[in-house]
Amino acid sequence: MSFMELRNATVQYNGTSVLKDFSIQIEQGEKIALVGQSGAGKSTLLNLLYQKYKGDASLVPQDLGLVRALSVFHNVYIGQLDKRPTWYNIINLIKPQKKEIKTIMPIVEQLGIKDKTFEPIRELSGGQQQRVAVARAIFQHSKIFFGDEPVSAVDEHRSQTVMEAIINNHQTVVLSMHDVSLALKNSTRIVGLKEGQKIMDEPVKGIKAKDLDDLYKN
Ligand code: ADP
Repeated sequence: MSFMELRNATVQYNGTSVLKDFSIQIEQGEKIALVGQSGAGKSTLLNLLYQKYKGDASLVPQDLGLVRALSVFHNVYIGQLDKRPTWYNIINLIKPQKKEIKTIMPIVEQLGIKDKTFEPIRELSGGQQQRVAVARAIFQHSKIFFGDEPVSAVDEHRSQTVMEAIINNHQTVVLSMHDVSLALKNSTRIVGLKEGQKIMDEPVKGIKAKDLDDLYKN
């Protein structure tokens, strides 16, 4: 029995299959990149896996799910909201507690957004907002990290640092990636999707960027 698996999963929207008879087995410690054209079914697959394994997992969804009026601190703190008593959450909403600031600071520092800790999300750039969503996931301390293009808006020079933060803080990682070279550099396995089907599933060793060209042809 694998650590995670889906067997013959099919997902339809309005009678059209967007994931077709899809099976995958994932072992603990794997770092998987899902690649393929927009509309191939990567988000659908990630959401299916997250629904099945959410007890052990954090997710950075494509829309990030941040509260724009609240600060970076509060959005990261939300990652642990359901694990703390309501009275304690209310105290932290009004006045962030030293203990929580001490835990959150190293995470936001690692992601290069420490100077934004007490600023509202609405004042951050798209790439900074993605880093907040990654920080919220890291603060959850889950074994599994699912991310839907989690660094797509992060500056090129910083995206590798964010990838390393994701990988170093989670045992098992499954990411949908649009940047093929970043995917090859940071994964142990590449899963290629086309029209809701898996057309490639290989260890990253030996794969070159041009081997993925077929995934992007119409
Ligand atoms: P990817 O992440 O690879 O871009 P998605 O999983 O988002 O692919 O989408 C796969 C297909 O499913 C696309 O054709 C998309 O338009 C369709 N789709 C996704 N979500 C919905 C939805 N909620 N309702 C209808 N169609 C959807």
